[in-house]
Amino acid sequence: MDTKSAGPSHPKKAGVVCDLCPHQCGIEPGGTGFCRARGVSLHPCTEEETVVSLNYGKLTSIALDPIEKKPLYHFYPGSKILSVGSFGCNLRCPWCQNHDISMAGADDAETRYVDPDALADLAERYAAQGNIGVAFTYNEPLISYEYVRDAARILKARGLKSVLVTNGCANPEYFKELLPLIDAMNIDLKSFNNNFYAKIGGDLDTVLGNIRLTAARCHVELTCLLIDGENDSEDEMERMAAFIASVSPEIPFHISRFFPRHRMTDREPTRVETMRKFEKIAQRRLKYVYLGNV
Ligand code: SF4
Ligand code: SF4
Repeated sequence: MDTKSAGPSHPKKAGVVCDLCPHQCGIEPGGTGFCRARGVSLHPCTEEETVVSLNYGKLTSIALDPIEKKPLYHFYPGSKILSVGSFGCNLRCPWCQNHDISMAGADDAETRYVDPDALADLAERYAAQGNIGVAFTYNEPLISYEYVRDAARILKARGLKSVLVTNGCANPEYFKELLPLIDAMNIDLKSFNNNFYAKIGGDLDTVLGNIRLTAARCHVELTCLLIDGENDSEDEMERMAAFIASVSPEIPFHISRFFPRHRMTDREPTRVETMRKFEKIAQRRLKYVYLGNV
């Protein structure tokens, strides 16, 4: 993994601290956090500084996708979901297929403003085409916490579903607040190794804790992108499968195949044998194991 370019470079802890995710960025007025999606606003009278979302309602991508593409295989199969993304991410995966938006900030992302009501209107308009609601996906939705919360409330009131496709890397207090509003999640479990997570700016324990919280409250499926030489040790596969089974052996588990992209174009696609090996290990403990792109 190209750790020199993929690793996090935290802003200094001066300024106002954002506690939305484990980065705990200190943000100065005019600056942004590590995710490039949160900044600081200065109250004109009190001069109080508060952390604000810079990507609220600013969508970079909108598409009507089959629900299986999220991937969610056990949640309204055969339906469609209006899928939206914004810009920014709190991780730096060197294989990110959406790096043009996930690594972008307010000054270099092309966006269209869609407020939460307008998003729900749009979702309703697609109902005739099989749409069941909105999936917040493509870039990391948890860093758009306020928008997801506001939109999900309206979607719920209108009988529509809210789905998150997420890296699961947010502080649990925020996660718990969103959970009652969300109907299903696909959470990335990128590795079972803290060093791996540290290289991409994430935190394994935070993700594991949030998977447990989610499984207790809403439908959850998990995805692991398997990369030869990175997260392919048998021991890691065993420990990951054992963890998932300890939460519930019924959690659908998607093993996804790596293809060269972004900063990892010098690597080969994951070998089919590696994919099959993980499938076998996972199947010993889990009921639903799916291989992607084999
Ligand atoms: S959400 Fe963004 S600004 Fe807030 S702590 Fe995480 S990376 Fe930093
Ligand atoms: S967490 Fe997802 S969106 Fe963010 S960099 Fe990694 S792959 Fe891209």
